[in-house]
Amino acid sequence: DTLEPRYKRILLKLSGEALMGDQGFGIRPDILQYVAEEIRSIHDLGVEVAVVVGGGNIFRGIAASSYGMDRASADHMGMLATVINSLALQGTLEGKGLQTRVQSAISMHEVCEPFILRRAVRHLEKGRIVIFAAGTGSPYFTTDTAAVLRAQEIHAEILLKATKVNGVYDSDPEKNKDAKLIKKLTYMQVLERQLQVMDMTAISLAMDNGLPLSVFDLLGKGNIARVVCGDESIGTLIR
Ligand code: UDP
Repeated sequence: DTLEPRYKRILLKLSGEALMGDQGFGIRPDILQYVAEEIRSIHDLGVEVAVVVGGGNIFRGIAASSYGMDRASADHMGMLATVINSLALQGTLEGKGLQTRVQSAISMHEVCEPFILRRAVRHLEKGRIVIFAAGTGSPYFTTDTAAVLRAQEIHAEILLKATKVNGVYDSDPEKNKDAKLIKKLTYMQVLERQLQVMDMTAISLAMDNGLPLSVFDLLGKGNIARVVCGDESIGTLIR
């Protein structure tokens, strides 16, 4: 069809949990295939695509530190989990003929490239999909914060946060059947009302630099392309 992208360069944030589906741990190959097709659909529109993948389907630092492990070490494990997910996504994208580079914030030269901003931008300009792995490279941060940070570094016009729900609600839709979807929010409203969109660090970093955030359901087929084409009926827009 004749979809026209609104953005030239975007950053897509996928949570680790999205990749595990309802199985509780690990990666579901069918979800990877689905995600890769969704990414292909926007790549085909000529959009430059960067991706940040979480690691919560494998390991979360804060959970391990709650039973006594040092937080920094636990977070290192969490960041390594994001590398596993990034390589899985790269393999799936390449299986579809899409050129992809993984750049890690923790250097692992045998496995992927190190994060080098200028090189990442060059890859994007050449139409390669760039997956940023290992979060920010520092403990005590999240991959949401890494996504906001990288989006700003590469001058992405918007951050697409694809999640399990179709946007931001005024209360938890799994617990409250009257929960209402909010279509538009300011960063300050998210912070003040403590809406569970992203952690505060990520939201305030986006706010400081005016990076728009779109939160929507990953598993709605075609959603990513709709958001990229400026369809505001999808999800919640924060700016
Ligand atoms: N992590 C970290 N620094 C970062 C990003 C991630 O230490 O910059 C660690 C942290 O332990 C986190 C884990 O990696 O729990 C997985 O990332 P996250 O929880 O953000 O994944 P998601 O919720 O998106 O699956």
